[in-house]
Amino acid sequence: MATAVVLDGKAIAERLKQQLQHQLLTFRHRPMLAILSFRTPASAVYQAAQFAQARALAIATTHVVCPTNASQTDVERIIQQWNDDPAIHGIFVHQPMPPQIDAQQISSVIDPQKDIEGIHPHNSARRFFAKARIGSCTALAVMELIDTTGIELAGKEAVVVGHSEIVGRPVSMLLLDKLATTTICHVGTDQAGRLEDHVRRAEVLVVAVGRPALIRGAWIRPGAVVIDVGINVVHGHVVGDVEFETARQRAACISPVPGGVGPVTVMMVMKNTVEAFKLQMAGRQH
Ligand code: NAD
Repeated sequence: MATAVVLDGKAIAERLKQQLQHQLLTFRHRPMLAILSFRTPASAVYQAAQFAQARALAIATTHVVCPTNASQTDVERIIQQWNDDPAIHGIFVHQPMPPQIDAQQISSVIDPQKDIEGIHPHNSARRFFAKARIGSCTALAVMELIDTTGIELAGKEAVVVGHSEIVGRPVSMLLLDKLATTTICHVGTDQAGRLEDHVRRAEVLVVAVGRPALIRGAWIRPGAVVIDVGINVVHGHVVGDVEFETARQRAACISPVPGGVGPVTVMMVMKNTVEAFKLQMAGRQH
């Protein structure tokens, strides 16, 4: 069998960037993105990519790095200031947050119109009813990668491994919206020894766990579309959750790590900032 087409996340991100550049030229004001993070190496890498792309698009940024012992009140106060500042259009809070921070509570403090990860309960509810105005950046990136393969999702067996609020659940909703027959697997599926059975059925497989080689290449259904969201560092190398070399012998299309979902997600942060800006500008005209 021929090896899979390797989906080029950088090229997809570049195409999205050009579309955004055209839109941004038509705006009278510059959108501004506010980023809150904690002092961790993982978010430092993601943040650096966000700043680089924001700069390239002339999207203004402001940034607060909290110490890892910051309190809930400290974090909420910063977000509240950004909510009240009309010059700020998008708010992004890096995850995971330190254990003393209630992440769900933080989600509900962000102004829903500035919530570019779509995590505020108002935005999660809209997604549930297929009425999202701003969606999870990673989930949208996954859908963008799937879209480039040309696969018709209606009626396909889609399996999502991972059920987190920022990746697994939103991506499952978006697949459902496209009428894919969607199964959500998670730690309980694995503990019950049923992960392999589900993965073997998948015509579209999305994996977002954070465990290297969790998904064996031999489990991939021949001709499947495989999207690997996982980011793991093994012996100094970044790898995904899927055994790439063996999986690519069976899949029709597969996203690599690095260079797959990651760059598209960063561009979705920019796109959602622009979408949030448009929403707020439209609101101010009334
Ligand atoms: P999370 O820790 O919030 O959720 C992990 C999920 O994996 C849970 O649903 C859990 O039930 C499931 N899980 C854990 N062990 C499992 C097992 N043995 N078998 C099956 N399922 C299992 O993580 P998250 O925030 O959703 O992120 C998942 C991965 O995606 C991480 O590696 C993260 O770094 C990466 N990520 C990448 C991007 C990107 O843009 N590429 C964006 C966000 C997250």
